[in-house]
Amino acid sequence: MAATDLNKSTPNQDFTNIEILNFDAVIVGGGGSGMRASLQLAEAGLKVAVLTKVFPTRSHTVAAQGGIGASLGNMQEDNWHYHFYDTVKGGDWLGDQDAIEFMCREAPKVVYELEHMGMPFDRNEDGTIYQRPFGGHSANYGEKAVPRACAAADRTGHALLHTLYQKNLELGTQFFVEWIALDLIRNEAGDVLGVTAIDQETGNVAVFQAKATLFATGGAGRIFRASTNAYINTGDGLGMASRAGIPLQDMEFWQFHPTGVAGAGVLLTEGCRGEGGVLRNKSGEPFMERYAPTLKDLAPRDFVSRSMDQEIKEGRGCGPNGDYVVLDLTHLGADTIMKRLPSVFEIGKKFANVDCTKEPIPVVPTIHYQMGGIPTNIHGQVVVPKGDNPTEIVKGFYAIGECSCVSVHGANRLGTNSLLDLVVFGKAAGEHIIDYVTKHHGDDYAPLPNAVLENTNRRLNALQNSAAGENAQDVADAIREVMQQHAGVFRTQKLMDEGVKQILALAPRVKNLHLKDKSKVFNTARIEALEVENLYEVAKATMISAAARTECRGAHTVVDYELPGDHPTYANGRRDDEWMKHTLWYSVDNRLEYKPVRQKPLTVDEIPPKPRTF
Ligand SMILES: Cc1cc2nc3c(=O)[nH]c(=O)nc-3n(C[C@H](O)[C@H](O)[C@H](O)COP(=O)(O)OP(=O)(O)OC[C@H]3O[C@@H](n4cnc5c(N)ncnc54)[C@H](O)[C@@H]3O)c2cc1C
Repeated sequence: MAATDLNKSTPNQDFTNIEILNFDAVIVGGGGSGMRASLQLAEAGLKVAVLTKVFPTRSHTVAAQGGIGASLGNMQEDNWHYHFYDTVKGGDWLGDQDAIEFMCREAPKVVYELEHMGMPFDRNEDGTIYQRPFGGHSANYGEKAVPRACAAADRTGHALLHTLYQKNLELGTQFFVEWIALDLIRNEAGDVLGVTAIDQETGNVAVFQAKATLFATGGAGRIFRASTNAYINTGDGLGMASRAGIPLQDMEFWQFHPTGVAGAGVLLTEGCRGEGGVLRNKSGEPFMERYAPTLKDLAPRDFVSRSMDQEIKEGRGCGPNGDYVVLDLTHLGADTIMKRLPSVFEIGKKFANVDCTKEPIPVVPTIHYQMGGIPTNIHGQVVVPKGDNPTEIVKGFYAIGECSCVSVHGANRLGTNSLLDLVVFGKAAGEHIIDYVTKHHGDDYAPLPNAVLENTNRRLNALQNSAAGENAQDVADAIREVMQQHAGVFRTQKLMDEGVKQILALAPRVKNLHLKDKSKVFNTARIEALEVENLYEVAKATMISAAARTECRGAHTVVDYELPGDHPTYANGRRDDEWMKHTLWYSVDNRLEYKPVRQKPLTVDEIPPKPRTF
């Protein structure tokens, strides 16, 4: 294989001596969304490559526990209108109602497709898929909780990912495992022509040229110190997109999951509360009854996280420092716990040293999910503002899953709606790419720009030639520290403004990374250093977008903007007159733009904004 020798490469290297691999479609990411799309493409006979940092079934989707949302109505009457309403309200009216309608209508169909592929869901006595209640999912427009989360014990993501992987193997999808995509390739017109990537095993670089490039790179929860996310969740797709001039949308909205194990960050699924678990304060009080009289412990996550923080702030936290609350499952009985929540039992033992059949588990709100991402439409096409058009299509570029913002989750995602969006939009993007590639692209590959490797070589050479400088992990830790301190559950304008200053002040350190080990083969230090640049893009996007939004909405709670007389966890000072709009952050000059929320659904009446109580 003719490939770059990192020791010899120069900034303007002639790419003809680099291996160029051609595909109809290149998918970056082998998680749930990437593999749902690749399946579609492989089935249609397209030549598809899936690049992934880790073996596909180790992608973060594998860690999803609680379930995938669909209004099957297997255990209680349900329909997609309720699901649609819950998702709009859960997202605090920042979600685009056309995309939400599309997702909720498609949900039963895509879940049955998974069932038919062989996904091993838990079953009811009558053979239908088992469903459990989840936060913010209700029947009859908020009246009572409804079981909507289709579950495979508390290992739903595991079941989903393995099912998709096996289907992909059957259809001959080509996986490039431990190949790390580094930069997006765009031509002068701004069209996307593929990616550059490095093979971790050999250190060789190659160009993946494609008629369609799809990002499915997952979340970036590792910009925070305490996170439920896998270590690989460093926001590479977002970094690549933003460095190539694509804006990132709604990055101020980060979800804290109420039940991360205190001190460890590992997640305990909302399914715990779906099965009947309750949160208690130091007096043993099930305090959510006070904050959300109807849905109680099953209110949406932003709401429950704020309530927990409020309990802690007001001195009702547990433990010697009063800095956590507890999740009590003891009343469920060992049989239910072992059948429905076996991983939770194991996590309790391993990470909290607690037998949850006998004692409650200490928990704190922990960073879990990014609502924002690369802006797309419902076909997964990446869209950017151009002239008067807020949604001009970037030719050849698609994004799905957690790295994208379509936007169905608005300012706060409901649990189970992510696994759902992976399959709904994975399939939709797959269908669109088939059409785009077969009808419009024929056999043609657009010519690659001459400087195709310029950005990648600049970054690789800076590390390769570094003689001194910063240790990548020290800089990553500094980024995480700022985010942890300045973009938490409760924010203040002062904290956010200070956070912006601190994050921008890290720029010289990010530029000055030093790679001690220059070897090529399996050099994970090189990959980690490259990841820091992506973490930094995401952190800047988050901090700057947050400091500019002078209201409270969903997961973005700024104490200064609560209205007089507001309840600390819900009245929230949302300002629809000014802020019913999506943020777009551009890396160049940290510029911000805005575009309106699409309030019109596809076929039904819109749900007008109202105060959010549960
Ligand atoms: C602990 C946990 C539990 C969860 N539980 C639920 C749940 O029960 N229900 C629910 O709906 N949601 C849940 N979520 C959220 C949901 O699981 C994720 O949002 C979703 O799985 C993300 O899927 P994805 O396909 O976007 O990305 P991922 O599954 O994260 O996959 C990303 C892929 O991109 C690849 N990649 C990234 N960067 C590069 C690069 N530079 N080059 C090559 N490849 C790259 C990775 O190797 C990986 O294959 C949970 C999340 C967590 C963290």
